[in-house]
Amino acid sequence: MRTADIFRRKTVFSLEIFPPKRDMNESVIYSTLDELTDIHPDFISVTCGAGGGKNGSRTIRIASDIINRYDTTSVAHLPCIGLTKERAAQILDCIKESGIENVLALRGDIPDDNGVTGDFSHADELITFIRENYDLNIIAACYPEVHPESRNTVEDIIHLKNKVDCGVGHLITQLFLDNRHFYDFRENAQLAGIDVPIEAGIMPVTNKKQIERIVKLCAIELPAKYVRVLERYEDDPVALRDAGIAYAVDQITELAAEGVDGIHLYTMNDPHTAHKIYDAVKNVI
Ligand code: FAD
Repeated sequence: MRTADIFRRKTVFSLEIFPPKRDMNESVIYSTLDELTDIHPDFISVTCGAGGGKNGSRTIRIASDIINRYDTTSVAHLPCIGLTKERAAQILDCIKESGIENVLALRGDIPDDNGVTGDFSHADELITFIRENYDLNIIAACYPEVHPESRNTVEDIIHLKNKVDCGVGHLITQLFLDNRHFYDFRENAQLAGIDVPIEAGIMPVTNKKQIERIVKLCAIELPAKYVRVLERYEDDPVALRDAGIAYAVDQITELAAEGVDGIHLYTMNDPHTAHKIYDAVKNVI
């Protein structure tokens, strides 16, 4: 099923997983999926490391198995940085042949040495390439707290509007820990004429190292409320995990009340946390 169609019926609840690392046995992902699919998410998206190498084939295999083994809609992430059009076409052919109908078209992060090669500079070019050559539903990423490379909100929203106009069916946000960023972003997007559904990306942060890495990497604000939770429970992993779950449940409950189009849960391949959150919010979304 095309994800864009699901939004017409309901508030979407979807999950994100990542493929096992290259040195790990791929089969570990199936015990994770056995548990995650009990939630009956509207779709599951599978991340992909930039470069389109071995990780890319794992993404496609897992996204295809989500459809065939679990009868669940899937989304394959596709970062285009470093890809030639020829390589992108090989990957997209494989996506089509595997029965996957949805692609999250991304640029990917620019490598530290800035040694970028390939035919795509930004996600909009990949989106146009897919739209012109493939019958696939295209999803794109967006950033409530502004992408770190953008100078300001206006510039970021102009680029986003252009990206959507290239052929995007729905958007998924970067994680955020303060819902006010999402409401401001949604309003700005509406004012700019962006009228596709916007799913809120929620990450239950359950350990201190993880949150420090993410805040740095994604340039997101750590709200005072969250800092207080971290300081209180940083030496107690079980309490911190429970507090992280409670925080995510609070975020989702408020977003649902504010009429969010959908929730995309970054599961970090942790079914226990995903289940706890889903059980707490299933009646409000
Ligand atoms: P773009 O849309 O190209 O935007 C990047 C920057 O360029 C922004 O500042 C934007 O404003 C600007 N820009 C956009 N278009 C233009 C233009 N035409 N001219 C000039 N400037 C422009 N990364 C992975 O490697 N693998 C994944 O699986 C993955 N999954 C993700 C899932 C989600 C939901 C999100 C939010 C991010 C994900 N990422 C993933 C991270 C993503 O690749 C990075 O955030 C990357 O830096 C930007 O990707 P993008 O597609 O948003 O880029």
